[in-house]
Amino acid sequence: DPDAEHGPQSLLSAEEFRFQLDELAGPCRTLPNRRVHELFEGRVRMHPDAVAVVHGDRRLTYRELNARANRLARALLARGLRREGAVAVVTERNLDWVAAVIAVFKAGGVYVPIEPHLPADRVTAMLRRADCWLVLTELGSTSSLDHDLDTLSRVELIYIDAACGQPYAEDDLDVHVGQEQLAYIYFTSGSTGEPKGAMCEHAGMLNHLYAKIDDLGIAADQAVAQTAPQCVDDSLWQLLSALLVGGRTLLVEQEAILDIERFVDAIVRGRVAVLQITPSHLEVVLASLEHTPRRLPDLRFVSVTGEELRTDLARRWFAAQPGIGLVNAYGATETSDDTHHEVMTVPPAGDRVPLGRCVNNIRAYVVDEHLMPVPLGAPGAIVFSGVCVGRGYVNDPERTRSAFLADPHREGERLYRGGDYGRWSPEGKLEFLGRRDHQVKICGRRVEIGEIETVLSRVPGVRAGVVVVAGRAGLSDRLIAYYDGPEPVDADVVRGRLAEALPKHMVPAAFHWLRSLPLTADGTVDRRTLATRAAERA
Ligand code: ADP
Repeated sequence: DPDAEHGPQSLLSAEEFRFQLDELAGPCRTLPNRRVHELFEGRVRMHPDAVAVVHGDRRLTYRELNARANRLARALLARGLRREGAVAVVTERNLDWVAAVIAVFKAGGVYVPIEPHLPADRVTAMLRRADCWLVLTELGSTSSLDHDLDTLSRVELIYIDAACGQPYAEDDLDVHVGQEQLAYIYFTSGSTGEPKGAMCEHAGMLNHLYAKIDDLGIAADQAVAQTAPQCVDDSLWQLLSALLVGGRTLLVEQEAILDIERFVDAIVRGRVAVLQITPSHLEVVLASLEHTPRRLPDLRFVSVTGEELRTDLARRWFAAQPGIGLVNAYGATETSDDTHHEVMTVPPAGDRVPLGRCVNNIRAYVVDEHLMPVPLGAPGAIVFSGVCVGRGYVNDPERTRSAFLADPHREGERLYRGGDYGRWSPEGKLEFLGRRDHQVKICGRRVEIGEIETVLSRVPGVRAGVVVVAGRAGLSDRLIAYYDGPEPVDADVVRGRLAEALPKHMVPAAFHWLRSLPLTADGTVDRRTLATRAAERA
């Protein structure tokens, strides 16, 4: 009797229930019981003089990078960093950043990335929320923040260059870091108006790193491109994966990311083997390659992530670059980054590109509202279980409780329920069917529309505000804001208010005042009409 086995709500036979729970799980893979920095140190001992990381015309060997990280780790400990103490790293994407990340892990701290150009209020809110009082930074990076950092009691700035110049020892430290210890906190947009800090542990981070190393075949003679901004968790595996296998990390310069020809040039000249970008970025790269064909002799895999990969884009990629693999990677910050990889072949026109199979040691279920698996092929909520599932949102028990649950199907495991909908294909691959909320991706970054609307509605003179997405074929989507109020409020004033509170990618591209926002029959704002209007103008 299936009911006796798994409760009265399930529509599945016992056999299908088992199949979904066991056969669709990622393969078991035993990982080394070492932390990321220890595996890196192993590589330092094996080939100390190999190049570890390249940025423009600067580079560090494994030995040099390790020595720098060891000094910084000692500087952190000297300032009183404790086990699981949060350390903000406020730098550009450069060699100091790489050393700082490794240093935080070596010292047993928790890495909290903060981009230097974020609005000061947001930075202080993040530091407070994460109870973070040590800040690793470089001269110039915090100039806009210094004043606000001063107002936070206890915050201590450690300048990376100065700390590396101190006579701290360069040899490896002996700090015990457990695999269940917290590794990092990434802040993502929060629908209630404040960013939330997703906490992930060392075990989940390492599991994801090995999934990338295995599935993308990352090896000692290869370079992995580091392209993602520091505040996006993809930046972490791009930074660390090559360093675990004796390869090279190429930090693609920010100017090259914005200029497609320079970007392709950097990939070719840096002899990049593995590259990860968003589908919107791939679209632009591909258009450039279609226009001016170039050989990419070292590139073996392009992985796309963060947004839905459309079939026609994948097909165009294979037509233009038949020898270079394409991998659709899917996951969330709360699940230690990607949980699914689809190593693709040319997809049939009109089919959806699958999200693929679970990576090692991970499970996903497609469930109903009671967390019970729905029949194979039926739509449902995608939930995740296993080592990937993070610890929740920092100092935010309420939001943690609503997204992080106990896995009812596997004792002792945590389960993460985000807002994605999907279904299983007959081949046991996950397919993406969209979101149940107002979360969108802008340039690959996660944005809760509700967070922008909260800020918009606080602008003096604004009665209510709504933000909609205007899709642009082949380009990243744009955000458009509509607001009403008794008198017109100048768009520049509103824009200025939002720019003070939100990161750049969350500030809408256009602002329109309306005497009153259109309403639907049931009295809520008619988003559909506004979205259509925005699309017509896009
Ligand atoms: P990551 O940093 O791993 O991209 P985020 O936490 O920024 O993750 O965003 C996660 C969300 O992005 C997912 O819940 C999903 O809605 C969307 N997403 C990520 N990858 C894909 C993909 N390959 N296809 C479709 N949607 C995706």
